[in-house]
Amino acid sequence: EEFHLEQSFAEALRNREFVLHYQPQVCLDSMEVIGYEALVRWHHPEFGLLFPDRFIPMAENSGFVIPLGMEVLRLACAQIAQWKVDNVPVRPVAVNVSPIQLAQQEFCRDVINMIHQHGLKTCHLELEITETAMLDAKAVDSLHSLKAAGVKLSLDDFGTGYSGFAHLEAVPVDKLKIDRSLIAKICNSHDDSPIVSATIILAKRMDLKVVAEGVETQEQVVHLKVAGCDIAQGYHLSRPMPPEDVPGFL
Ligand code: C2E
Ligand code: CA
Ligand code: CA
Repeated sequence: EEFHLEQSFAEALRNREFVLHYQPQVCLDSMEVIGYEALVRWHHPEFGLLFPDRFIPMAENSGFVIPLGMEVLRLACAQIAQWKVDNVPVRPVAVNVSPIQLAQQEFCRDVINMIHQHGLKTCHLELEITETAMLDAKAVDSLHSLKAAGVKLSLDDFGTGYSGFAHLEAVPVDKLKIDRSLIAKICNSHDDSPIVSATIILAKRMDLKVVAEGVETQEQVVHLKVAGCDIAQGYHLSRPMPPEDVPGFL
């Protein structure tokens, strides 16, 4: 099955079988939607709707993640442009970027071209990167160039790696996303997750916005608000949805 999936990547791109679903990010002060994370899905003609965990690791191993990543960027930019036309309030869309994409020499140029080709500004797009990306000198250069061009950067899955704190100073990120495994430990509105509270304090000291991901309960919302977290994302607020559902949700 894996072999078959890998064989059908190129055709899937040509047939436009990849789509993005959008999960709102909500400001905990105003409870307004302040942005979305774009999450890729594959409408496979034989296997049905496939989630990224089924094909991203394979795409990374085969290098296919590079053209796939460009397709994801194209879809996100085209969607934002369409929302503008439809008078749907436009908010920044965050796109997940694989370390393999970031290590490409042309990555920064390609991203900025894509944004401009769709008549958008760099502030319409955010990139979600992981700690692994920060280990590569070329990737760090790319991140500095993107940041200088006005593209916002989020550090994804914070709290799962080994040296998040050390790398935070080297890379110009704007947001820190606390991994959902840490958020899952919050069971009530008391401070039963000191790591989360301490991370929020640290991020504030570094002038970073904090996003909690995987928020599944109202208790977690209350806890995060009290702890000073800025933004929440998770099933309790909304599941990822196809773009046509976004106006109704808003
Ligand atoms: P991620 O970046 O950590 O994305 C968040 C994942 O958590 C998404 O799964 C989302 O559906 C899920 N999620 C959201 N809210 C909740 C919640 O309240 N509870 C729980 N248990 N889960 C929640 P999804 O869409 O299956 O994506 C999985 C991973 O695939 C992503 O993890 C990301 O690392 C990767 N991915 C997704 N889209 C892309 C893409 O376009 N490019 C690349 N390179 N990777 C992608
Ligand atoms: Ca992400
Ligand atoms: Ca994440």
